[in-house]
Amino acid sequence: MKKKFCQFKKCLYLCKLNRSVKMGQNDDMTIRFSGLKSGNYNYHFTLNEEFFEEWKNEEIEGGKVEIEVKMERLERMLMFTFSLSGEVATPCDRCLGRVMVPIVGEEHLCVRFSDTETCENEDVVVLPENAFEIDLTQWLYEYVAVRIPMQHIHPDGECDPEVTRYIQMESEVREEESEEVDPRWEALKELRSEE
Ligand SMILES: [Zn+2]
Repeated sequence: MKKKFCQFKKCLYLCKLNRSVKMGQNDDMTIRFSGLKSGNYNYHFTLNEEFFEEWKNEEIEGGKVEIEVKMERLERMLMFTFSLSGEVATPCDRCLGRVMVPIVGEEHLCVRFSDTETCENEDVVVLPENAFEIDLTQWLYEYVAVRIPMQHIHPDGECDPEVTRYIQMESEVREEESEEVDPRWEALKELRSEE
């Protein structure tokens, strides 16, 4: 009996460690729903510079996004609505400097409880029957990440001037190179004319 308890404790510790290795402390983004009566609940989360830095994702260098969370607690289900508003910094496709991209929108997530069912839908999460809380970090991050457009470039004239100059020089050099005639081609032409 004692041994079992220890193993359970160890597992809990490992789970916590796992989480902290991946994302640091996320208690802020965790909602404890056990003990809550059926009804509506509101929460507010802020994803800040520090939060984005922890993910070390090249696409999101920083920013600030406010998230209003509405949770409806039902008998065997939780219904979440997330309203996002803010902006994140992402590297410019042209000069690699920071471009701010607005992040606005709404997302829905449904949480069901079951020990047998598995989840097949990205908008539905299945938690074990005895679950008492949900860490929303992963979802919140993804909701932001999917809103970053494929192309993100500074408006004309706002790119880093030094990098712009460098890119211009590079392309001029490349043009000159392509104008020069390949000496092998010249030699081949001479050979042909001798035939
Ligand atoms: Zn730029």
